[in-house]
Amino acid sequence: MQNDIKDVLYSEEQIIQKVKELGAQLSTDFEGRNPLVICVLKGAFIFMSDLVKNITVPLEIDFMAVSSYGASTKSSGVVKIIKDLDVPVEGREILIVEDIIDSGLTLSYLIDVLEHRGAKSVTVVALFDKPARRTVDLQPDYRGFTLPDEFVVGYGLDYAEQYRNLPYVGILKPHVYEK
Ligand code: 5GP
Ligand code: MG
Ligand code: MG
Repeated sequence: MQNDIKDVLYSEEQIIQKVKELGAQLSTDFEGRNPLVICVLKGAFIFMSDLVKNITVPLEIDFMAVSSYGASTKSSGVVKIIKDLDVPVEGREILIVEDIIDSGLTLSYLIDVLEHRGAKSVTVVALFDKPARRTVDLQPDYRGFTLPDEFVVGYGLDYAEQYRNLPYVGILKPHVYEK
């Protein structure tokens, strides 16, 4: 698995440090608001679990799965809800936890859905951001790291469902997906 990684971009220690900073900031900003924290599966699952441990205000969690890339490295542009939330969002303050924002299509669709359902507010925290690849006008409210235009894996992020268990984030060698 490690042999398929060209470069490690962020080590486990660097990521954990950043997640702690994000958690501290969110704890301050969400004081008294009891947010519903939504993990966008599957990629955000590790970020979500590390992040909520660093948020000190009362909160609820839920999970949502949307289709994005399948086994390709480019967005299909088609977003579909695979698994919906268990709880209503009407009147709730939502914190969406995303692994990475690329084109922005997934997130803009999700925000629309939650707003249509009557969420009181929708805030986005993304661990990684690739602003150079955006096709819709959208910025996360909180971001961990800005990435170059490279396909990355690890810390929850996959290629063809593999590599999610790497504790760091790295760039895949092109030969892996140019087969
Ligand atoms: P978007 O809709 O913003 O184009 O893509 C969002 C989703 O595509 C992300 O939440 C993530 O699951 C996946 N994605 C985008 N860029 C990458 C990447 O560099 N590596 C991996 N593994 N997934 C990515
Ligand atoms: Mg995602
Ligand atoms: Mg994926």
